[in-house]
Amino acid sequence: MKKKPFVTLEKLKEITAQYPTPFHLYDERGIRENAKALKEAFAWNKGFKEFFAVKATPNPFLIRILQDYGCGCDCSSMTELMLSKAIGCKEGDIMFSSNDTPEEEFRYADEIGGIINLDDITHIESVERAVGRIPKTISCRYNPGGLFKISNDIMDNPGDAKYGMTTEQIFEAFRILKAKGAEEFGIHAFLASNTVTNEYYPMLAKVMFELAVKLQKETGAHISFINLSGGIGIPYSPDQMPNDIRVIGEGVRKVYEEVLVPEGMGDVAIYTELGRFMLGPYGCLVTKAIHEKHTHKEYIGVDACAVNLMRPAMYGAYHHITVMGKENEPCDHKYDVTGSLCENNDKFAIDRYLPKVDMGDLLVIHDTGAHGFSMGYNYNGKLKSAEILLKEDGSFELIRRAETPKDYFATFDCFPIYEKLLEDMPQEQH
Ligand SMILES: *Cc1c(COP(=O)(O)O)cnc(C)c1O
Repeated sequence: MKKKPFVTLEKLKEITAQYPTPFHLYDERGIRENAKALKEAFAWNKGFKEFFAVKATPNPFLIRILQDYGCGCDCSSMTELMLSKAIGCKEGDIMFSSNDTPEEEFRYADEIGGIINLDDITHIESVERAVGRIPKTISCRYNPGGLFKISNDIMDNPGDAKYGMTTEQIFEAFRILKAKGAEEFGIHAFLASNTVTNEYYPMLAKVMFELAVKLQKETGAHISFINLSGGIGIPYSPDQMPNDIRVIGEGVRKVYEEVLVPEGMGDVAIYTELGRFMLGPYGCLVTKAIHEKHTHKEYIGVDACAVNLMRPAMYGAYHHITVMGKENEPCDHKYDVTGSLCENNDKFAIDRYLPKVDMGDLLVIHDTGAHGFSMGYNYNGKLKSAEILLKEDGSFELIRRAETPKDYFATFDCFPIYEKLLEDMPQEQH
């Protein structure tokens, strides 16, 4: 599939006249259409709810859009919980799926009406200590171990993942939780990441639904929801086919009717915790070519770097690049597209064929709407970029300003050097 940016060069010129590159740009229309499609795909399930994985894109303006489609928040840290509360999450709108969890986070999650999803059997005691009781609604995360395969394709390796409880432990946990007063139970598993196949969710659903039947029969615990978590992927590269959420929803429905309904469990709600699928394709990193270098290879230096988008450096991930205004020119130049970090893996693309890039060209790096800005860091004293929302009516709004040196130095504010740093700041940077 040919990858097309959701923004035109003309619009980008308008935006860059007001906000300097680099920045992450988000597409309100795409976000809305996709959230609506997910909702419709699972409309057959009465209790269906998507808890957006906040870590993917922790921006309140974007999560508010998702709230229009009934989405809640999936959190795994104190600040994610705080953000979710601040944007109006109520009782039952937050899933707290964390691991290696500090007890005060259990306390706060419970206090604000979050559903606690236990990653480990020892967390039963932690929650009791933190909260003072076992919440009436509780969930447990499952890890069957081994390899997760679809046909003969290895999708992922749960046996090597730190998350979740073994089969024995989850049965034991249910018994203990029930004895301690829990009334409504959920189960959760995240067994493969960034899957680009319509079969992942139905396969996972089969594993989870069969487990749910056994758990309910053997422990007498009432299962009220099954959380299929994240993992539905997006086509980062043009040769991948996008998932079809309608086909996925129907696939899960079929398994639901085969496994749960005959057991009298037709009231179980399906929950999801999608991150990448919800926002990934609806964000891009906009950056400008500022340097070319001809040495042992051909380099194009841009004004963004890995702190704005870490996936290529961290996972060798492919992100498609469009040189704006040159969409129809032949890709006959081979480049490494680099940032300025003193780190040789700071490359957005290696040996990528692009049209000839001229200095000042705007480059759109695709699919940065999830796990993009959020994985940012400050290495080399680099500052995090702005985030801008392109609205349905074509107007645009700053939804997070860029960091300034003042932000970067803020944590020195208890030392005398802080005053000096502020004094010496270049004027326009204040
Ligand atoms: C990261 C994460 C998600 C979201 O994963 P995606 O790949 O973005 O869909 C959901 N649930 C949990 C517990 C996670 O850690």
